[in-house]
Amino acid sequence: MMSVAPGYYAVAGPGQAVRHYRIDQDGSIHLVMGRKRDFWRINPVRSPTAQADVLRAIGRDPAAAQALYAQSARACGVCGRTLVDERSLSAGVCQQHRSRLLERL
Ligand SMILES: [Zn+2]
Repeated sequence: MMSVAPGYYAVAGPGQAVRHYRIDQDGSIHLVMGRKRDFWRINPVRSPTAQADVLRAIGRDPAAAQALYAQSARACGVCGRTLVDERSLSAGVCQQHRSRLLERL
């Protein structure tokens, strides 16, 4: 099975609503249903077929899927924290992860 780095991703098929996913360090996949106050409501994706579909969809362009997540959920594509300022929103990651990304360049 294809591997995707832990983080938050969104994918949309033709005519389909955008779906948000969280991938954990151990590779487990969760469908992010939405947020209630500070808590994300998540549902595990358990079926191997569904997992493979999600990984395939994200794996086509992980950076784009992460950026779509940030735009759609207005949250960091790495840690899921809510993005408030315009710079973080356009970068698709929170301030903390933006500086980390810049350090890596
Ligand atoms: Zn972050």
